[in-house]
Amino acid sequence: MKYSIAVIKGDGIGPEIVTEAMKALDAIGKKFGHEFVYTESLAGGCAIDAEGIPLPQETIDICKASDSVLLGAVGGPKWDNQPGHLRAEKAILGLRSELGLFANLRPALMFDALSDACPLKPEKVEGGLDVLIVRELTGGVYFGERGREKTADMGEKAWDIMPYTEKEIERIGRVGFEMAMKRNKKLTSVDKSNVLETSRLWRSVMHKLKEEYPEVEYSDLFVDNTAMQLVMNPQQFDVIVTENMFGDILSDEASVITGSIGMLPSASLGEGTRGLYEPIHGSAPDIAGKGIANPLATILAAGMMLRYSFGLMEEADAIDAAVKAVLEEGWRTADIAKKGEKTLSTQEMGAKVIEKLA
Ligand code: NAD
Repeated sequence: MKYSIAVIKGDGIGPEIVTEAMKALDAIGKKFGHEFVYTESLAGGCAIDAEGIPLPQETIDICKASDSVLLGAVGGPKWDNQPGHLRAEKAILGLRSELGLFANLRPALMFDALSDACPLKPEKVEGGLDVLIVRELTGGVYFGERGREKTADMGEKAWDIMPYTEKEIERIGRVGFEMAMKRNKKLTSVDKSNVLETSRLWRSVMHKLKEEYPEVEYSDLFVDNTAMQLVMNPQQFDVIVTENMFGDILSDEASVITGSIGMLPSASLGEGTRGLYEPIHGSAPDIAGKGIANPLATILAAGMMLRYSFGLMEEADAIDAAVKAVLEEGWRTADIAKKGEKTLSTQEMGAKVIEKLA
């Protein structure tokens, strides 16, 4: 099969890590008989430099014409003083909205070989950790009406409204159930329905939806309790589905438990099969150009693309297994190495993964 991939390398370490992910995809293509055709385009700081805006129309067109999108990272100090609407990071928000991506999938996967980096007690994560957080991406308080006004006697007042419609809840809820069906058939829906009206609507929609998925072991959990449970007993979770702001906070909490930002991929999905795949970290300007960035999060993001956009399960498993094998042999980039341990460059780490894929 032939698949077209829009590639946005972006800024900072973006070009270095995406290049390694493309090599890994090519190795998969060679082994399993697929062809991946890449079209590169600009977004973020490099697009501001070349075209004066963070997300050129040409980039949007290329992404819309492709089967999927692979992104490195955007932004950096060079563009920090741009006015708000021209900030490099606007490129990501623009892409999400142009491509209608409403579901963010953030796996918090801890490889056994890296369990030392986990800040929790070893017995809490013995045997590894594999939680998938499904976060609603285009609704809720981040997109609701907001404002400020002066009051007579209480100083200034500000508000942010958290709106959700049944349709918005149903479509993200369905992603949660579908993901659970593909994994261990366990779904936790996180809300704050003891306080928030949006959460009460959320819960009622989820309860209707669960009738369609009798095989899924479903539970509701308040967001404050979820934050505690994630550090007390993270292994109880398989898939967590939640609204935008709760998901933002919980997915960062879960990623910290796994120990390394350089290891975690993410996917943003819409109605169709096209998605945006990227590492969760930023452009790491402090190490850009040094050839020492960890490419594994981006390689794992490419694996997620194979799984969720192209339905290539065996191929995706092969990427995950190659990364696991490389780590188990003790190969490390600087960010995941212990003091005194020998480290690999970005390219050398990429090459180790490809060796395993072959
Ligand atoms: P960051 O994730 O870029 O870096 C945080 C720390 O982690 C740095 O010390 C960095 O060296 C390290 N790190 C990150 N990725 C690494 C990797 N693959 N290998 C080894 N070390 C790695 O976060 P930041 O410093 O807060 O942000 C830098 C820039 O990236 C900012 O302009 C920010 O706005 C942007 N950013 C972009 C995205 C995105 O493109 N999706 C996400 C977050 C931040």
